[in-house]
Amino acid sequence: MKSNRRSFLRLSALAVPFSQIGSALAHGPVKKPIVISTWDSGQIANGAAWPILARGGKALDAVEQAGIAIENDINCCVGLGGNPDRDGYVTLDACIMDEKSNCGSVAFLERIKHPVSVARKLMETTPHVFLAGVGAQQFALQNGFELEPEALSPSAQKTYDKWLEKAEYKPVINIELEQNKGKGHGPFAPARLEDGSFNHDTMGTLALDANGDVSGMCTTSGMGFKMRGRVGDSPIIGAGLFVDNEVGAATSSGQGEEVIRVCGTHLVVEFMRSGLSPEKACKKAIERIVKPNPERAKTFQVGFIAINKKGEIGAYAIQKGFNYTVTEQGGAHKISNAKCYFS
Ligand code: ASP
Repeated sequence: MKSNRRSFLRLSALAVPFSQIGSALAHGPVKKPIVISTWDSGQIANGAAWPILARGGKALDAVEQAGIAIENDINCCVGLGGNPDRDGYVTLDACIMDEKSNCGSVAFLERIKHPVSVARKLMETTPHVFLAGVGAQQFALQNGFELEPEALSPSAQKTYDKWLEKAEYKPVINIELEQNKGKGHGPFAPARLEDGSFNHDTMGTLALDANGDVSGMCTTSGMGFKMRGRVGDSPIIGAGLFVDNEVGAATSSGQGEEVIRVCGTHLVVEFMRSGLSPEKACKKAIERIVKPNPERAKTFQVGFIAINKKGEIGAYAIQKGFNYTVTEQGGAHKISNAKCYFS
């Protein structure tokens, strides 16, 4: 299969699977507004963001709705339906950042359905940027968010029970390809493997609105069966998400520790500031991760997506199989098999 194979989804029918349109789709500058999200399930996120952007709304509102939509999806490894940590608890991480460099983050948040909205509330009503654990939950409850039941979703419970049989902490480098092996719902991969394998399915969304402003969000339940208390890159501004309204924005998915080490999305945005296209900026950030130890880098996946102020988009990953979803005037495109280091 060729890199950058693209497919198309008509906006009016989000339930209709992408149909393949080969590689003919132009990938140049795109008119605003535009929204891009990680993975196949980016169709759900973009589907919630697009109506706001299409009517001239703010990128910040659009990306929050994207996060809410995916956190609501019980079949996705984002939000309370996601895989638990190795002690059986779902712990959520999320952040949001707007065009004025306002940002909010929550990490190790339990039993709250919409961490992205808690992050926004924190950003808008307090002088702080980052709350974690019990304090984040307390803040959420004080602000009208409800305490949800502790129980795992049925599919997460099944996956966890299976994982407990071996209880190995062993990430699978390219879960998205494994998922696609005969198990997908049409071209959309299922959210998790049934054999209890690790999964990563962070939703990162970046939007450029009609006004020309950029915002982003990132939400996740993190690596499945992680150590209790482990926090990845997703809620960390500059790692899982970075927005600079003069330049653009970037978000990441994959093994968070590797993204944190290089302040990955901040790096991508700084590379764009120096004049690189979004794809080249993502590539340079991936190289920064890989080069110190290419052998080790063969064992994990990281993917970046980015957008600049012209509405140009790009992505780059370490391994094959990284994909993302773009929605703009006229439709949504799935971009499969982003270019990667080990192609
Ligand atoms: N980046 C996330 C983390 O490390 C995982 C993922 O992307 O699925 O928690």
